[in-house]
Amino acid sequence: QNLIDGLPALTSQVRNLTQDTVQIGSSDEISASDFQALETALRAFMPWRKGPFELFGIFIDTEWRSDWKWQRLQANIKPLKNRRVLDVGCGNGYFCWRMLGENARVVVGIDPLILNVMQFRLINKLHGGNPPVYLLPCGLEDLPDGLKAFDTVFSMGVLYHRRSPIDHLLELKASLAPGGELVLETLIIHGKAGESLVPTDRYANMRNVWFIPSIETLTGWLARCGFDNIRLIDTCPTTTEEQRSTGWMTSQSLSQSLDPLNPELTIEGHPAPIRAILLANSA
Ligand code: SAH
Repeated sequence: QNLIDGLPALTSQVRNLTQDTVQIGSSDEISASDFQALETALRAFMPWRKGPFELFGIFIDTEWRSDWKWQRLQANIKPLKNRRVLDVGCGNGYFCWRMLGENARVVVGIDPLILNVMQFRLINKLHGGNPPVYLLPCGLEDLPDGLKAFDTVFSMGVLYHRRSPIDHLLELKASLAPGGELVLETLIIHGKAGESLVPTDRYANMRNVWFIPSIETLTGWLARCGFDNIRLIDTCPTTTEEQRSTGWMTSQSLSQSLDPLNPELTIEGHPAPIRAILLANSA
């Protein structure tokens, strides 16, 4: 909070939320000393996982090319114009800005990790002007029950972190207004109906991975939870171009989590990560 309060006073009309890189401010609007001060502050908020961002000419090359995920879903979801949107497990809010760029009426992101919330606050301060984007430091299970408040709810990269995936799906449904759209992105395995992988320990070095269903299993879970109109819009293996170490996230990333002799496997011998995006509607 002190770092954010101490940022140089910067204002800009450059706010580009409709390109792959979320851009606020440009390099010709900032003095050399303020540029230095901003870069030092941004580095103090490392690791930067979701992005990319460009802030007053400083390019934050994040661990993830989150823009690629957005490209996979943008044309397939119900247009966000005028909708009330919830982004569950929003990270630092990269997608929340892209949702605002699509003219959502209001975007609420929730994420329990404080570093993510503070990265968002820093960016929000640079953006200025009180945009209708809010990031709350909490998990989905902390929202009031049965809100039925959102026209579109995103849960991306969260389901496999939940010990109880069915409860997560029910909580997502309870947050949606009647007829609202769920955008669900998660790890999947190739497998039959009913099959899912529960790793005995780590999955691709991640400690907190519980259920990785097949698409048919996941579709069955959604149906069981009362979702309608369930459809798959994308599946795609995660590559070491999409998720990698960078100057802004210097710890190990996907390439160190795959079997060096067989990139089809994780280092634990599980199938390497494949992700799917499904849409569904609340009844
Ligand atoms: N949605 C982003 C980030 C995925 S990483 C994307 O698709 O790239 C998963 C995020 O979920 C992390 O930021 C983590 O802090 C958050 N998370 C973990 N448990 C959660 C919960 N119970 N409710 C909401 N978010 C959660």
